[in-house]
Amino acid sequence: MRYVTTVIIGAGQSGLALSRHLTGYSIDHVLLERGEVANSWQKERWDSLRLLTPNWQSRLPGCAYGGADPDGYMSMPEIADYLKRYARFTDAPVEVATPVTRVCPVDGGYRVETDQGSWRSRALVIASGACNIALVPTMSAGLPRSVVSMTPMEYRNPGRLPDGGVMIVGASSTGVQLAREICASGRDTILCAGEHIRLPRVYRGRDILWWMDVIGTMNMRYDEADDLDRLRRLPSLQLIGTPERETIDLNSLRKRGVEVVGRLVGLRDGKAQFSGSLANQCVLADLKMSRLLASIDAWVTANRQDSLFDAPCRYEPTHVEPQTRLSMDLDAGRIKTVIWATGYRPDYSWLDVPVLDRKGRIRHDGGVAQAPCLYVMGLPFMRRRKSSFIDGAGDDAADLAAHLNCNLYRAAA
Ligand SMILES: Cc1cc2nc3c(=O)[nH]c(=O)nc-3n(C[C@H](O)[C@H](O)[C@H](O)COP(=O)(O)OP(=O)(O)OC[C@H]3O[C@@H](n4cnc5c(N)ncnc54)[C@H](O)[C@@H]3O)c2cc1C
Repeated sequence: MRYVTTVIIGAGQSGLALSRHLTGYSIDHVLLERGEVANSWQKERWDSLRLLTPNWQSRLPGCAYGGADPDGYMSMPEIADYLKRYARFTDAPVEVATPVTRVCPVDGGYRVETDQGSWRSRALVIASGACNIALVPTMSAGLPRSVVSMTPMEYRNPGRLPDGGVMIVGASSTGVQLAREICASGRDTILCAGEHIRLPRVYRGRDILWWMDVIGTMNMRYDEADDLDRLRRLPSLQLIGTPERETIDLNSLRKRGVEVVGRLVGLRDGKAQFSGSLANQCVLADLKMSRLLASIDAWVTANRQDSLFDAPCRYEPTHVEPQTRLSMDLDAGRIKTVIWATGYRPDYSWLDVPVLDRKGRIRHDGGVAQAPCLYVMGLPFMRRRKSSFIDGAGDDAADLAAHLNCNLYRAAA
């Protein structure tokens, strides 16, 4: 058994950012990582994926992007390399290849079991990721046997799919990116779109995430939100990082040949049923996008900066075919693969501490869990809108490290 003041589980951006702050407080700690640093980026993403956040936004505590292409978007090997360099730069005490198999409370702290032995700690930080398991709706059980069911964590590239058409369920960042790539490979592609967040890649000459940063959208705090539960469940942004700074939305996908249908609502007797609400969902997404653009314009005018940027513009509404299909016979042979781009959830199967709600989520207040000296990092809208982004790790880690330090100090006193 080894003793340390704080165990951090996971060496992604969240764990590393927190480690950097704990070092600043001289709190001894260890990061237990089941794979290697940046494991999720290396093992759980598809081949062509690039960050949808621009390079300048991959800033971490004490380390800003210093490369030659601040407006570009890193590939997976690049972001993994970036995080590994950060771990070396901060001298993070990472124990790699050390999966945590059980955590339980013991007197005045936690016992953390791994397949490399056990640790005792006073404090525990769960930075094991929000996207460990791909969500697959129970209706997937109704898929005909002739159709392969796959998650984005299993998908690597179109060449590894069975021959034939592909249906992608979900039109948030993962779904739209996969639809674009699979359709470009020459396959028949159908995209089922429910609620989604449409955004232009570039607005008035700047990346939309630059705007969301400067006008304060990404910094919105959890304790200022009216409906936090809903904000935490919002779909991810319809964005893609390409060298051309391309906008991806349902209009651009349709032009490329993707058939867009409504949300998948049922799978019965070999038939897929799609919601008739596609037009409404698109109107809502268009409306919300226009609202964001209007707040950007208002910010520019209020700050007398109109002359610094391109003129304001608005985008054509999302086009919805009047005869959009409402069902499809999956036994007919057109579709051979269904990919469930329906979201992700964390895996806490190893956590034996009574902090989970009935849906298996950690009960917490801005990352401070309802157990002594127990913290969580990297969840959607955990303390700020940007909490689950690379750029959000720094501010959240600063807050939680300060809280943890106070907690330890109080306990010692
Ligand atoms: C497809 C996809 C694309 C994304 N694109 C972007 C983007 O462009 N920009 C952006 O800012 N964000 C993006 N995100 C969101 C977010 O930045 C990533 O999910 C990021 O990986 C989260 O970092 P993290 O450190 O919180 O978790 P992770 O990176 O998942 O790190 C958690 C670490 O914990 C380890 N771990 C888990 N369980 C255990 C265990 N039991 N024992 C030991 N170790 C364990 C894992 O191996 C992993 O290394 C994306 C997410 C996904 C899913």
